[in-house]
Amino acid sequence: MIHKKSREDIKRMRHAGHIVALVHKEMKRVIEPGISTKELDSIAYGIIRQNKAQPTFLGYNGFPANICTSINHQVVHGIPAEDVILKEGDIVSVDVGATYAGLVGDSAWTYAVGKIDAELQRLMNATEEALFSAIKQMREGHVLDDVSGAVELTAQREKLGIVRQYGGHGVGRRMHEDPFLFNYKVGDKTVLKQGYAIAIEPMLNLGADEVAVEADNWTVSTVDKKASAHFEHSVLVTDSEPLVLTQLIPDGLT
Ligand code: MG
Ligand code: MG
Repeated sequence: MIHKKSREDIKRMRHAGHIVALVHKEMKRVIEPGISTKELDSIAYGIIRQNKAQPTFLGYNGFPANICTSINHQVVHGIPAEDVILKEGDIVSVDVGATYAGLVGDSAWTYAVGKIDAELQRLMNATEEALFSAIKQMREGHVLDDVSGAVELTAQREKLGIVRQYGGHGVGRRMHEDPFLFNYKVGDKTVLKQGYAIAIEPMLNLGADEVAVEADNWTVSTVDKKASAHFEHSVLVTDSEPLVLTQLIPDGLT
């Protein structure tokens, strides 16, 4: 069942989303060669707690950290660690969830570490573009397949692999609510209605589609070890333009 968000839910989700966006703003500033993913986790935790929110991922199905950090061929769910040090030429996907007054914001971004090669930049640009083309489809009366299809079209045009086993999801009082959102068309004609909030999260690969879970039982990596990028926003269907919930509120929080 898909929950429509009330006015109060939306207010809290924008608040949660603002906090997530504050974390990403800081990630963009601090990510450079030499920093550990554990340091990124600590910084994120500090910002989330300072703003009276909780890190949604901590303890979720037993996840042992505040954020997910996935490097290069790692797709999602990488665990921050002191001995994982970012180096020049890496890309790192940082996934952040914050719960504020019972409602969740969920957003991921892939960052370049120093100078990266052109193929990695192309992968990042295309995955970000896939996200924003999908966001444009989040309008009342459209169907879920329209959103999925926008991601798929961008991936196909750029000849990128599409992660099949993971995708977007409804978001609100829980991080993962109905519906599941594939990053490729599956024929889902579920109609989008005002008040639906969905986390759209294309995960695209420089190589093939296939991914597998590593020995730590969390980190998902590409099987061919080629790089993967991940961009995500939580987005609300309104009576007009889609509203990105995981962005900075211009005048700050009230
Ligand atoms: Mg996420
Ligand atoms: Mg998500």
